[in-house]
Amino acid sequence: MRKVLLLGSTGSIGTSSLKVARDIPERMQIVGLAANSSVEALVKQVRETGVKQVALTDPAAAAKARTLLPADVVVHVGAQGLVDLVKQSDADMVIVAIVGTAGLAPALAAIEEGKHLAVASKEILVMAGEAVTEAAKRKGVNILPVDSEHNAIFQCLEGHRHSQVQRILLTASGGPFRTLPADQLPGVTVAQALKHPTWTMGRKITIDSATLFNKGLEMIEAKWLFDVPMDKIEVVVHPQSIVHSMVEFADNSVIAQLSHSDMCFPIQYAVTWPDRVPNNLKPLNFAQVGALHFEAPRVDDFPALNLARHAGTIGGTLPAVLNAANEVAVDAFLNGKIPFPDIWQTVERVMTAHQVIAHPGLEVLIEADAWARREAMQSCA
Ligand code: NDP
Repeated sequence: MRKVLLLGSTGSIGTSSLKVARDIPERMQIVGLAANSSVEALVKQVRETGVKQVALTDPAAAAKARTLLPADVVVHVGAQGLVDLVKQSDADMVIVAIVGTAGLAPALAAIEEGKHLAVASKEILVMAGEAVTEAAKRKGVNILPVDSEHNAIFQCLEGHRHSQVQRILLTASGGPFRTLPADQLPGVTVAQALKHPTWTMGRKITIDSATLFNKGLEMIEAKWLFDVPMDKIEVVVHPQSIVHSMVEFADNSVIAQLSHSDMCFPIQYAVTWPDRVPNNLKPLNFAQVGALHFEAPRVDDFPALNLARHAGTIGGTLPAVLNAANEVAVDAFLNGKIPFPDIWQTVERVMTAHQVIAHPGLEVLIEADAWARREAMQSCA
């Protein structure tokens, strides 16, 4: 039985995690919840799970939660409240499903407390992969990937030697504009970009999937999670999202992991690992699937992949800068301030202006992140 603290419980991964907990109650107990400001949804989740500790980053939402929840439920508040919740919880695993980098401090706190991490928030590994993986190693804490691609790679690697990995093949759906001619990309609307062909996800990651920054961030995430150089990580477009990723070994054999595109699969495996337990998820029917399709990504029309490869290869503060500039640019696009291609153009401008610092500590990374946000905001103004 895993006692799980769920950070980002009101989001897409958060609600799927609660679904998994309902499906396998003998293996997964939710002992704490956290969100930013979705107070009504959080209160409903407290009633369902019976947790006695929650956190809300937004102070007004936290104050409202205190009036709605029974007196014996502790409500932590603010960014520090997330860390306090982690420290005071009796969870043995923390699922980090907060969008962006706000999950970094609680993730580091969880490691220091010796709690295992199940990480959906790829942004924290992109920003601070070295710090997070080193701390986890030092404390003997597992980092279990929730991202479907990395969860797939994790499964493909099990029982194999790291030294015999030849290539990591990350699959990408290609997003809603996979076949759209490049000259039409400047005219795409927010509504079109939010229409993902195979996955239902939060807004930020859905836009990242449309630009292919999601896959770029995942390349850097894979580098840290699996300790492989960027030149061993490749992307192949697979529009059906059934093969969630693959690993090629020294003998040119490839192992893949397949399932329907439902985040409950990787969430469950992260929680029950190394066990596989029965559930109510839909099995694959290969005769119905018929054929699996693969194609090369359009790297010239979607520069995010090359920008991420460059950032991951150079390392230091550059991935944090890419990530922060992208967060600002996505927000600007969602608010109608910039056209779609300006997302990667903003990221490229900020990356070019940045003076990279090698092997940064946390403080330097936080400074680089803040600098990139300021630069990107100016660029999007
Ligand atoms: P959503 O936008 O659906 O949900 C985000 C969650 O984070 C909400 O619970 C939100 O709370 C909470 N949150 C946001 N900011 C803060 C903050 N400052 N403090 C505390 N909580 C905060 O995102 P997703 O679930 O789609 O994605 C979450 C993460 O998982 C992202 O990093 C994404 O890249 C990754 N991921 C998502 C996948 C998916 O299928 N959705 C797949 C693989 C990875 P509130 O509701 O109050 O705003």
